[in-house]
This record gives sequence, C-alpha cells and structure tokens, in this order.
Amino acid sequence: MECSKVKKSSQNVRVAVNIRPLLTPELLLGCTDCITVVPGEPQVQIGSHAFTFDYVYGNMGSPSTTIYDDCVAPLVEALFHGNNATVLAYGQKGSGKNYTMGTNNSGEGSNSGVIPKAMESIFKRIDSMKESEEFLIRVSFVEIFKEEVFDLLGMDSSSLNAKPVVPAREPLKIRETKKGDITLDGVTEEEVKTKKDMASYLSHGSLFRATGSTNMNSRSSRSHAIFTITMEQKKIAGTGATVDEAGEDLCAKLHFVDLAGSEHAKRTGADGMRLKEGIDINMGLLVLGNVLSALGDEKKRKDGGHVPYRDNILTWLLQINRNPMAAEMQRMRSQIEELQAENQFYCGSSPLDEL
Ligand code: ADP
Repeated sequence: MECSKVKKSSQNVRVAVNIRPLLTPELLLGCTDCITVVPGEPQVQIGSHAFTFDYVYGNMGSPSTTIYDDCVAPLVEALFHGNNATVLAYGQKGSGKNYTMGTNNSGEGSNSGVIPKAMESIFKRIDSMKESEEFLIRVSFVEIFKEEVFDLLGMDSSSLNAKPVVPAREPLKIRETKKGDITLDGVTEEEVKTKKDMASYLSHGSLFRATGSTNMNSRSSRSHAIFTITMEQKKIAGTGATVDEAGEDLCAKLHFVDLAGSEHAKRTGADGMRLKEGIDINMGLLVLGNVLSALGDEKKRKDGGHVPYRDNILTWLLQINRNPMAAEMQRMRSQIEELQAENQFYCGSSPLDEL
C-alpha cells in the first residue's frame, strides 16, 4: 500500500532543546556551562539572550517528563491513527544527536533514546490490538551524502567487517508516483515483526554508516540519515467497524532523521570537495529551515501556501504526499468548512471527499 492518504493532524512543528552535561574532557579543559534554563519556562538564557522553545530538557535537575513522553509519544500515537510524522535531531557534532535519538543502542535502560523507546511502544501497542487489527511494519534506512541517497540496509552484514570498509555503492534513484508519492527505486524495506528485529536493522544501518566514516573522515557527521518506520493497519474481518472513522485501512510513516552536524553550515574556510560538501549541507539545512517555517505558519498552511519541499533532496524525501492538487484541495476544503460553519453553504457529499 502506498502511504498517500495523509490524515489531518492538529500538530505541525514543535521544537525541543536537550542540553547535554559537560563531558569529562570538557571539564578537564576547565569548560563551564554557558547556558541556563529559566525555571518553569521552556526558555534558555545564553549571556544576555533568551530563547524560547516548546520544550527544554537537561541542565535543570530531574524533569518530571522526558523528551520521549512529550515530543515523540504523541507522534507514535498519531501513527496508529494514520498520521505521518518526522523527528529531526539538529545540532553540531558532539552535541548529543545520537544520544537523544538512540541511533546506536538497542533500547535497554533509561537512556535508550527516542527511537528505541518509540519501537518499544509501537510493539506494545500492536500486541494489545492484535485481536482486532492486522499490522504490517516495514523499515528502511537511508543516508543522504552530497545530495545522493544511499541505502544503509540490504547489505550483506559480512561486508561490515570486510576491507575496504566502504563497498562501492550506487546511489538510489528518486521517483515520483502518479499519486505524487516520493519513492526510492530499489530501496530496501525490511518487514519486521518484533522490536528486536527493528532494533537490529537500526544498529545494522548505523554500524554501516559509522563504518563508512572510519576511512572517510567522519562521514557520518557529514551526512543526513533517515530511519523510516512504515505502518499499515487493517481491521480483521468480523471484529467490528474498520479502524478509521472514514472506514479505510491506514498507512503512515514515522521518519527519524539524524541531520549532518550543523557546524558544517558555518564552515566557510573550506575549499575543493569539502567546500562543495559544506554548500550541500548548508543548502539542505537552509531548505529544511524554510520548510519548517512554512509548515509552522498556521495561516500559510490553511491557505495552502507553498512549502518548498522540492528545493532539496532531504526535504523532498521527507515529503510524504506531493500531490500537486493537495494544497489546492486543502484550501478549498477549509473554505467549505468555514462556509458550512457560518451556515452559508451546504453540501451533502462534496466531490472533494472522494479525493
Ligand atoms: P552527536 O551525535 O551530536 O555527534 P553524540 O550523541 O555522539 O553527539 O554525543 C556526544 C557525547 O556526549 C557522547 O559521548 C554522548 O554519550 C554524550 N552525551 C550526549 N548527550 C548526553 C546527555 N544528554 N547526557 C549525557 N551524555 C550525553
């Protein structure tokens, strides 16, 4: 099933900051914290500047909630209602992106990161619903390096230990289906039935990405990695109405993105290949910023305003449904809803409902 039926969600963009403690080498060098959290507020202070976010964690004793509970658990819940979502980790190298995402661990222990926690709750929830619903879960893991997309799964795991560590890899071709979905030609999508299976694909891909970095000067901090969980959900016949209010089967995607280190965005002294790479990373993060501002602008979204997904491979790939009519349809739906609310217009069954 193609995940082209995007369900409406009230959530759009939320930003959380996770402040990591100083590490031993930093303490040994005499570094001190330069960031303080305004008590009771999602606000941080750096020197005389204050910045407000949706959530702030770390550097302030033991918070009562975790970044997973506040920011990711609602997205996992939404996945079961057919909503797509993306979790992005942004920051410079060493700031804690991997730690927060949990890209490199299997999910045991309290510091397991948001991906392993999401996996755990997905399979717990599936277990509790298995009498009435059927699920098909697939994962893919790709890396964007210099505006090309590479598969991080589907490699013979023995090649992880082989020399040279980075086998020749062909970039994947991006295609757009008639429905406007973006697909990657030949990308490995592994079906998973347990949390353990899913975790093993996460660590397999992470290991491959990290292995690539050993002889390519920290390539992993210079590439974006996207781990995608695709969930198809179907009511088992004879167990009541279909899962969705509209009576359709559900399909949704949850993307976890470990972005290239943001320090590259400022690396202006580079030349040659590194300069080109810096420009690509810069461009990717800039376009991502533009997409997020467009998505975060409620008015623009309602008016079906342009979201510049296609300006970069990263944002293009993260766009789940690029039906060129979608924005226009959304705008018309909103207008009809407004008119209906004002009793100025009645339509029994709108032709738009079929789309
Ligand atoms: P990045 O992925 O941004 O390059 P890492 O996740 O590898 O950074 O983190 C760098 C180091 O900081 C690691 O040793 C990691 O264990 C540690 N670290 C990151 N965030 C935290 C945190 N919130 N608490 C404790 N240690 C952390």
